[in-house]
Amino acid sequence: MALLDVKKLKIYYYTLSGIVKAVDNVTFSLEKGEVLGLAGESGCGKSTLGYGLIGLIPPPGRVAGGSIVLDGKELTKLSSEELRKVRWNEISMIFQGAMNALNPVYTVGFQLAEPLIIHKGFTKREALERAAELLEAVGLHRNMVRRYPHELSGGQKQRVVIAMSLILNPKLVIADEPTTALDVVVQAQIMNLFKKIKNEYRLSIIFITHDLSLIAEIADRVAIMYAGKIVEIGSSEQVFNNPYHPYTKGLLNSIPRIRHKEKITWIPGVPPDLRAPPPGCRFHPRCPYAMDVCRREEPEMKAVEPGHYVACWLY
Ligand code: SF4
Repeated sequence: MALLDVKKLKIYYYTLSGIVKAVDNVTFSLEKGEVLGLAGESGCGKSTLGYGLIGLIPPPGRVAGGSIVLDGKELTKLSSEELRKVRWNEISMIFQGAMNALNPVYTVGFQLAEPLIIHKGFTKREALERAAELLEAVGLHRNMVRRYPHELSGGQKQRVVIAMSLILNPKLVIADEPTTALDVVVQAQIMNLFKKIKNEYRLSIIFITHDLSLIAEIADRVAIMYAGKIVEIGSSEQVFNNPYHPYTKGLLNSIPRIRHKEKITWIPGVPPDLRAPPPGCRFHPRCPYAMDVCRREEPEMKAVEPGHYVACWLY
């Protein structure tokens, strides 16, 4: 049985100017110990999907339909109190922007120890000891428990935030753009840390990013999102070596390659307004292969090879 099973999930924002269908009929699953990379342009619903999985959609948004089953438990039916127990214990999140994710008035140790005291009944001494151990596990000195966030570099803060996501030993971590705002050297160190914790903790990770090269480094499978929908999903090898969806091809063609002299191409236009997405295939106004049927009818997900699914009328 999959660790996470998401079926026909809809997350809508009910605004005064209309309903924003940020995540619309999204279906995917995740095995134990698997890393799923979630990619797409900004505004395609990746972060909303991550927040929805952990039950943190701010009003006026809410889960409007579908199901999220984590280890046999239907999360969309839980009360906020029940969900609070699942959050961090079973599923945790690394939020975008580590620079602002820590409370500036508390020490790192206090912020790491607090959930252990509240959720697991640890004494303060035990919790601080566990916090120090975890800091070592993410490559920091255990004495960092005494430091305040302003005393840390960007990379150190990101490591603390990663340690925080692991503090209650969750089964699934959602990492939302965890390397944004870090320089390339620190980014590479953080990616190595993700690989290490994935293996050591046998974690399942949903790695959200617009940077496909990061996904290629870490993900077992890749899901490409466009305008609130998953348009292609498959193993990293399948999606990177043999992409089918024109949007996926466009994203891959826009990655600069040092060794090749080909011109970088880009996808013309911008993602649609999700209050009134185009009918049929939502990518049709930007797709060079659009046909009449694409403007009228939405394509269903179809298997193009074992484990590789695409929503496109070309296949
Ligand atoms: Fe392009 Fe049509 Fe495929 Fe959409 S369904 S990606 S418009 S070919």
